[in-house]
Amino acid sequence: MTRLLLIGPPGAGKGTQATELAEAFGIPAISTGDIFRYNVKNETPLGLQAKAFMDAGEYVPDSLTNAIVEDRLQEADAAPGFLLDGYPRTTDQVAELDRLLQASGTALDVVVLIVADTDEVVSRLLKRAAEQGRADDTADVIRHRLAVYEEQTAPLIDVYSARGLVVTVDGLGAVATVTGRILDALAERGLRPPVASK
Ligand code: ADP
Repeated sequence: MTRLLLIGPPGAGKGTQATELAEAFGIPAISTGDIFRYNVKNETPLGLQAKAFMDAGEYVPDSLTNAIVEDRLQEADAAPGFLLDGYPRTTDQVAELDRLLQASGTALDVVVLIVADTDEVVSRLLKRAAEQGRADDTADVIRHRLAVYEEQTAPLIDVYSARGLVVTVDGLGAVATVTGRILDALAERGLRPPVASK
């Protein structure tokens, strides 16, 4: 049973690390950003509602976001554990996740905070813009996403720190180096992948 959250600014490498960690622990990586992008691409009703917010670098309203996470956590593969990437991002979402976990008689093990300085994350996001053409990776929207993160999501670090759940990891360096740092930090908390990992 491993229940993890990844928090960090846009461009810190959450998505990349989420994939690595989920594989190591044998749990699903659940990314609200990926779920929204999938729905936007397929023009579902959810995607049509989320698109304008995402393109502007705003958060999708909590009501929509909480509903998709509630559905996703009820799927069978999330029963033995999960890694949430990019959720919760607001205090309202924290309250909703608390409610969901309480209802299932479970709790979070660790919140992994990936830190990276602003210059680095901006340059990573601009590089991703050139490679992948994500609609929200333009310079203006990136600046706005970072501001929204500082205002709405950074305060969550204090909330989870007060619960003694946060481990902080430097997001600078090669992917495998950062994964190694996270695995070390988790091991210090007694969380080890079932199989030997990099
Ligand atoms: P990043 O972390 O680089 O901003 P994500 O793929 O995690 O990228 O998210 C992309 C966009 O999806 C966000 O800017 C936001 O519009 C929407 N989104 C993702 N997760 C959430 C969330 N928990 N609450 C509200 N909006 C979200």
